Amino acid sequence: MNLDIVHLLIEDSVPGRRCVRTSGADRKAAIAGLPQAEVREQAPALPELSEMDIVRHFTRLSQKNFAISTQFYPLGSCTMKYNPALHESIAGRSHWNGLHPWQDDGEVQGALSLMWELQNDLAEATGLPGVTLHPAAGAHGELTALMILRAYLDGRGETKRRVILIPDSAHGTNPASCTLAGFKVLTIQSSKRGLLDREDLRAHLGSDTAGLMITNPNTLGLFEENIREICDAVHEAGGKVYMDGANFNAIMGVTRPGDFGVDMMHLNLHKSFSTPHGGGGPGSGPICVTEELRPYLPNPRVVEEENGYRLIEDSEASIGRLRAFHGNFGVLLRAWAYIRRLGAKGLLRVAENAVLNANYLRIKLREHWRVPYDRTCTHEFVARPKKTMRENGIHTIDIAKRLIERGYHPPTVYFPLVVNEAIMIEPTETESKATLDAFAQTMIEIAQEAEAGNSALHAAPKNMPVSRVDEARAVKEPILTWATK
Ligand SMILES: *Cc1c(COP(=O)(O)O)cnc(C)c1O
Repeated sequence: MNLDIVHLLIEDSVPGRRCVRTSGADRKAAIAGLPQAEVREQAPALPELSEMDIVRHFTRLSQKNFAISTQFYPLGSCTMKYNPALHESIAGRSHWNGLHPWQDDGEVQGALSLMWELQNDLAEATGLPGVTLHPAAGAHGELTALMILRAYLDGRGETKRRVILIPDSAHGTNPASCTLAGFKVLTIQSSKRGLLDREDLRAHLGSDTAGLMITNPNTLGLFEENIREICDAVHEAGGKVYMDGANFNAIMGVTRPGDFGVDMMHLNLHKSFSTPHGGGGPGSGPICVTEELRPYLPNPRVVEEENGYRLIEDSEASIGRLRAFHGNFGVLLRAWAYIRRLGAKGLLRVAENAVLNANYLRIKLREHWRVPYDRTCTHEFVARPKKTMRENGIHTIDIAKRLIERGYHPPTVYFPLVVNEAIMIEPTETESKATLDAFAQTMIEIAQEAEAGNSALHAAPKNMPVSRVDEARAVKEPILTWATK
């Protein structure tokens, strides 16, 4: 591994170099009033650098990252679409980011009306009238909805319903959220067509069923075409249907989960609605529920009254507070701006173009890669190395690393688990045909290398700041602090 990045600052250290020179009087003033035990006797051992050294170091470091602003980023399931610069500039204005959540409702009518409008827009888009903007991400939305389901079942005395059914193609957050909310998970198999197996579903439904968690379109990029029948079966058994809405980008404006029988769902504003994500920054995972489940939504809620908007805690059935304050407001603001700029027709065009782009790439690549479910997909599709490539010892990890070397953020790999060596490609609607063509050409060239058993694939990436790392060790034994040699 090339450790240049880590060592740069240390190697540049020159004794006596400083950013700011302080006088003895400054230092005295700085420590005046500190308890004696807290005052250092010796200066800490830190690299000694000028301000210019540091600015250059961190600027160079920031440029070593892959980002949607610099590269095509077809990370399946994550919807890495362009984050409009205009929305960033709106969100950066002081009349938004200078607000404080403890201000009186009367002083923040603009912010409350924005939240109210966003709630209504999301209700309209999903066909589910009860909305909360509190959850901080999709996984948090899942947990919130499952807590609501539990409160609803308990309220009806149905305390035996504790099983949630989840297809084997689901995202790992689904079973994790169920377990956190105190439910037991049973796995439902996928059919040969890559959809939920309806017979296996029926075999698992019963008096202990709390509900089904289903992703639609699913993680193979396929629309669950029997969704209506699936929802009916769960309802007949006394359960509720939760939809993981991470893939909403493919269907917004086309169809509404509330119309095909879903009771609750989350949206990832940082995926479908173009707010920035990656690197663990703030996200937002609002949930939308039916009228029947609305009383259980978290408090406080925004309401519109005669004299304006208010935040109230009026529902006794509510699961209560989920977090401090009212959601990641800066993210809500960007999503609101996105919806307002595009309008209903614009959102439909987003979905259509996302689906068009994915199918375009699927058809360009299907001769060169194996595409296990090779039929019209939604916003993403799953490919994998051909048998001949695998016999050459070339695996998905090698393909991903080679793509990095060729200037692309790799697609999602080894997920969903139902496809061995999955390469899950989601181009999004914001990429041009030229970008898709260039990516397809690169994928075709890499396929040829893999067919030829080119061992250079095992060594990739060579020309990057960090070469191939031992990912398991990097997670288990991370070195996160600077130390003198
Ligand atoms: C991203 C994703 C999630 C989790 O959403 P976060 O916002 O990352 O918590 C859940 N399910 C699917 C299918 C996803 O793609």
